[in-house]
Amino acid sequence: MKAFVDKDICIGCGACTGTCPEVFEMDDDGLAVAIEDEISDDLEESAVEACEGCPVDAITVE
Ligand code: SF4
Repeated sequence: MKAFVDKDICIGCGACTGTCPEVFEMDDDGLAVAIEDEISDDLEESAVEACEGCPVDAITVE
């Protein structure tokens, strides 16, 4: 599984970094970015939770 943040949609609320800081971090521009690596099995659940918790649906996990 990989995660992606659409920066055209992200509003920089920081929710995803709070839910799953191992996968999401805030970039210098104040918007979220996801790690480029494959998400390890033990982090998939929280990555999906972060995706579902994004208020503007900016996160894709696949
Ligand atoms: S939860 Fe969504 S809007 Fe908030 S920082 Fe993360 S990607 Fe951006």
